[in-house]
Amino acid sequence: MTLSSAQFDNFRLFTMETGTFRLDGGSIFGVVPKTLWAQHVACDEQNRIQLTARVLLIHSTSSGRVYLIDSGIGHKFNEKFSKIYGLDFSGHTLMSSLEYHGFQATDITDVVFTHLHFDHCGGAVLRNSEGESSLAFPKARHWVHQEQWKNARNPNEREAASFLPENLDPLEASGQIHLVEDGHQYEPDFTIEVVDGHTPGQQLPLLSSGDRKLLFAADLLPTTAHLPLPWVMGFDTRPLLTLEDKKRVFARCIHENILLYLEHDPYHELIALGNSAHRPNITWAGTLDDL
Ligand SMILES: [Zn+2]
Repeated sequence: MTLSSAQFDNFRLFTMETGTFRLDGGSIFGVVPKTLWAQHVACDEQNRIQLTARVLLIHSTSSGRVYLIDSGIGHKFNEKFSKIYGLDFSGHTLMSSLEYHGFQATDITDVVFTHLHFDHCGGAVLRNSEGESSLAFPKARHWVHQEQWKNARNPNEREAASFLPENLDPLEASGQIHLVEDGHQYEPDFTIEVVDGHTPGQQLPLLSSGDRKLLFAADLLPTTAHLPLPWVMGFDTRPLLTLEDKKRVFARCIHENILLYLEHDPYHELIALGNSAHRPNITWAGTLDDL
């Protein structure tokens, strides 16, 4: 399978597929009954839905920085974990995608974590056969919103299963974690939108190129099936806040023509929204190659 790329003014963008996984359909669609969601997405005999872990590489030609936005699940998990989540790396891995686009791990200068749930940060931490951990991108600064870091290091019991110490302890020990606040700008034309409903301090990278914009949607909009406002994941810690996040961000996307880059949708990489924030529809769908 080919991986797409695009020139976006001063940014060269590269799609990075890091593997697929499966999550329970109930947890993916929250209060929405299966009789409804099953009309839109297929599930396996264990009621699981296949998702992808599609991350984004950004090479800034003006600053020279090479950003990786999220890092997928990674490979340091046991058989039980792999079975529960149906991990499948037969198509792509983080490193095979990196190589496909002609980059090496040491080229990455910045890893930007939207948040620290295991399917977003696990690929950034390696473990060898002796059980020793190291960073997959040793030269990179690793960025996370300060509210997310605080929450991930002191999680409530409900969210703790998503914040794995095997990811977070080595990141903390490395001294390479850098915290950002609301309104952070990584460089000109590269800012963030912060949403708090899924988990506190989820940062969504936002790139601008003239009148074109692209937002990395992460878990604000995991798949196109989550476009209707009440279709909110059961994982979200504050679903009513997610409703407000969705209305605000969708309105902005429609008003400012912002494309949404989807991290977990196996079939949609990039979409444009139309109509209204309360009832958004897809007006265009494609890949980075179509830009
Ligand atoms: Zn998440």
